[in-house]
Amino acid sequence: MSIGDNLVVIFLSMPLVILLFYTARKWAHHHRSVKALHEATEAKMLDPASLHPVFDMSQCIGCGACVPACPEGSVIGLINRRPHLVNPSSCIGHGACKQACPIDAIKLVFGTATRGVDIPFIDPDFQTNIPGIYIAGELGGMGLIKNALTQGRQAMEAIRKAGRKARPQQYDVIIVGAGPAGFAATLGAIEAKLKYLTIEQDSFGGTVAHFPRGKIVMTQPAVLPLVGRFQLGETSKEALMAKWRLIAKKYQVRINTGERMEKIEQDPQGGFVVTTVKGRYATQVVLLAIGRRGTPRQLGVPGEEKTKVCYRLVDPQQYRGQHVLVVGGGDSALEAAWSISEEPGTTVTLSYRSAAFSRAKPKNRQKIEASEKAGRVRVLFNSHVKQIGEHEVEIRCEDDTIRIKNDQVIISAGGILPTKMLKALGVQVDTKYGEE
Ligand SMILES: Cc1cc2nc3c(=O)[nH]c(=O)nc-3n(C[C@H](O)[C@H](O)[C@H](O)COP(=O)(O)OP(=O)(O)OC[C@H]3O[C@@H](n4cnc5c(N)ncnc54)[C@H](O)[C@@H]3O)c2cc1C
Ligand code: SF4
Repeated sequence: MSIGDNLVVIFLSMPLVILLFYTARKWAHHHRSVKALHEATEAKMLDPASLHPVFDMSQCIGCGACVPACPEGSVIGLINRRPHLVNPSSCIGHGACKQACPIDAIKLVFGTATRGVDIPFIDPDFQTNIPGIYIAGELGGMGLIKNALTQGRQAMEAIRKAGRKARPQQYDVIIVGAGPAGFAATLGAIEAKLKYLTIEQDSFGGTVAHFPRGKIVMTQPAVLPLVGRFQLGETSKEALMAKWRLIAKKYQVRINTGERMEKIEQDPQGGFVVTTVKGRYATQVVLLAIGRRGTPRQLGVPGEEKTKVCYRLVDPQQYRGQHVLVVGGGDSALEAAWSISEEPGTTVTLSYRSAAFSRAKPKNRQKIEASEKAGRVRVLFNSHVKQIGEHEVEIRCEDDTIRIKNDQVIISAGGILPTKMLKALGVQVDTKYGEE
C-alpha cells in the first residue's frame, strides 16, 4: 500500500476509533455509577440530608448534562443512560444539576417518600410563627454557604426593622450558631449597633470549619454587612476560613464559642430566656442559625464531661503517641479511627454497640479491617462505654468488662436535630416527604 492508501485507511477509520473511545468511556462511567449506587445501598446511605434533585424519567433525554454540572463530583451518575443519585449522602443541594438540564426534567425536593425532613415554617422576614423567634441558614431548609450568608444578613435586617426594644439587662438579639448564617447575622447586628450575643457550641465557621482538610469549596458571591460584596468563587476551606477570620478580627466580632444553647423559653415580661451550658440570658429576639447537623449525641456516662472527650476529629496528628478510644460505627467514626491509627505511636480502640459496621461505606470498612489485621486498631463490637476515667476507660463487652489505657476519647455517635426543641417552643415544623 502506498502512503496515500495508508492515509486514506487512517482517515476512514478515525470515526470508528472515536466511536470506540466514546463507547468505552460511557461503559466505564456506567459501571462506576452502578458500583457507587451499590455501595450507597449496602451502607444504607440512600437518603440525601436535605434539598436534592429528583429526575423525571418520562421527560429525561439522557443527555448527561446534569452529571458534570454537580460541583461535588460523583453525586449523580448515568446508569443505562438515565441519571441516578448514586452518592445521595454527598448531595448538599447546590441545584446546579437543575440549572444544567436543558428540558427542565429535574425538581429539587426535601426528604423522600420514606424519610421525611423537618422544615420549620418561616415567613418572608425569616420569622417563625412565634413572634421574636427567627431562623436563618440551612435549618430553614436552604443549604449552601451563599444562601446562609445572605439569609443571615437579611434576617438581621428584618430584626432591626421590627425594632423590638430591649429592657435594661436584656439583649436586643441572641444569635445561636456561628456558621455562615450566624456570622453574617452577627456582622449585621454590629452594623445596626444592636446589643447582641452570639453563642456557638463548637467553633467559629460552622459546618465549613469541619470540612475535610483542603476541601475545594464552591461559593457564589454574597453581600456581607459592613464588608459589602464578598466573592471567592472556587477556593479551599482553609482560605475561606482565613478570610472570615480576618473579617471577624477587623470588625471585632464577639462569639461565645464552646457554649451550647440548651433551652429557649418565653419570658413572662416579654422576649425570651435562653439557657446555655454556661448561663441564662434574657433577650427580645432569638435568631436560630444552627444548621442541620444538630448537637452531638452524648453517651451519658460518668466522666464524659472531661476535657479529653470530644465529639469530632479535628487533626489526627494531635493524637500522636496517645491511647485513643473512638466510639461509633458510622463513616466519621471509622475515618477517625483509621486516620489516627496511621499516626506513629498511637493505640486506637474502636467501640461500637452493634455486631457489624453496617452503616459505613465499604471503603471505610475495608480500611478498618486492614488496620485491625495490621494490629493498629482494636475493634470491639457489641460493646458499651461504661465510664471514662483520667487515664483509662471501662468498656462492657458482651459478658466481660474491660479496662484500657486511655488519653483521649472521640465520640462519633451522630447528632440530635433541634426539631424537638423547636416544637417544645411552639415553632411550627412541617415534615416534607419528597416535596418542593
Ligand atoms: C461535606 C460538606 C461539603 C459542603 N460543601 C459546600 C460547598 O462547597 N459550597 C457550599 O456552598 N456549601 C457546601 N456545604 C453546605 C454548607 O456547609 C452549609 O449549607 C452551610 O454551612 C450552612 O450554614 P449555616 O450557618 O446555616 O449552618 P452551619 O454551617 O451548620 O452552622 C451552624 C452552627 O450552629 C452551631 N449550633 C448548632 N446547634 C447549636 C446549639 N444548640 N447551641 C449553639 N450552637 C449550635 C453548630 O455548631 C454550627 O457551628 C457543604 C456541606 C457539607 C456537609
Ligand atoms: S440533564 Fe436533564 S435530560 Fe439530561 S440526563 Fe440530566 S435529567 Fe436527563
